[in-house]
Amino acid sequence: MLIASLLVLGLSAANPTEDFLSWVDGAVPASTSPPPSIPSRTRPLSQAPDSPEARAAAVPGYRFEAEIYAAIAERIRAHPDRIEVERIGSSVQHRPLWAFHLSDSTPSDRRVLVFGGIHAMEWIATEVALELLLDLMDHGISEGVEVTIIPLLNPDGRARVERDLLAGEEHYRRGNGANVDLNRDFAVNREARAFWRKILPGYYQTSRTPLSQPETQALDALADRARFHRAASLHSFGGFFYVPWAGRFHRLPKADRQEFWALGRAMEGAWDTRAYRTRQLGRWAFFFRAHGTEIDHLYGRYGTRAFLIEVTRSGIQPFKPRTWKWGFRSYNPERTRRYLKHRDRTVRALRALIEHEEQPVERRARLDGLDGLPPPLDGDEVPENRASRRR
Ligand SMILES: [Zn+2]
Repeated sequence: MLIASLLVLGLSAANPTEDFLSWVDGAVPASTSPPPSIPSRTRPLSQAPDSPEARAAAVPGYRFEAEIYAAIAERIRAHPDRIEVERIGSSVQHRPLWAFHLSDSTPSDRRVLVFGGIHAMEWIATEVALELLLDLMDHGISEGVEVTIIPLLNPDGRARVERDLLAGEEHYRRGNGANVDLNRDFAVNREARAFWRKILPGYYQTSRTPLSQPETQALDALADRARFHRAASLHSFGGFFYVPWAGRFHRLPKADRQEFWALGRAMEGAWDTRAYRTRQLGRWAFFFRAHGTEIDHLYGRYGTRAFLIEVTRSGIQPFKPRTWKWGFRSYNPERTRRYLKHRDRTVRALRALIEHEEQPVERRARLDGLDGLPPPLDGDEVPENRASRRR
């Protein structure tokens, strides 16, 4: 009990960047009176008793939480002006949830959110989010664009998997510190309507009440405040850019669908050969629906063009039986050239999502016909190509 209370310390809220850096260093100052918006209890970054060498040897190519945040802290120290750190909340077990905001100095007219690690075992998602963050810190971003990156939305689940790996144990882990699947905890499209829910009930489960967990609450509060235009939630595995709806078979309204597909094509184009494909998640298979997901929530509640990206096509290798049954390995391929290709091309795809310029309406009309366009207002000039198509 004494050890537990010693572990849970406070963070001063005066400067989030300083708080983050001191938390990474393991020296967490106890706060006397943090403002109510900042969680008062904080679990320090887990370092002991495992050495960096033990962590590096556990799964080569995948960084542990300590190394992930150390890499970010190193870049922040090198370029303190390029990034703004925000603590958006705390996990069930009082681990801080960190968001990193990047922008150039001009006012932003496009805000993009990228987050990973919502599912405990899907480590490649966090690797991709981290690589994107480091890349943007090194090379900057386009004018008028603001990007927010959350590398790890489920640090409690992640900590469990880290312990498993260091102990040489294999357990299937997905949920957060309360064993809730965070990606079935959001508020939009929670109700299973499909006939198949009676035959395959496991596919249609959600948490008991919407936004019941501190992690989903923190993400929702951020989304409510920032009103992101575009978003990507990183998962593993499958090799798809999924769009809403995930919880319904219905298609999106045509104009929205066109915008989603234009962004999906931009990401596919950044990939080269054998690109991931853009698909509606709720139409993945005739029986499959995912209820209470982040993409339905972000799109349904805030209009965000939100993608769920399944990174890699699985780490299962036909001639390595151990990879068939080891859950961790099926989500996270061995660090080979193929793994690096998937990671780096997903980063490229995310840059395309961030930077894609919207097509002018006239061009869209030429590509997709006129049905989805709003009718011209009275007295408006009819664009030339619309007039000519009418004849
Ligand atoms: Zn996932």
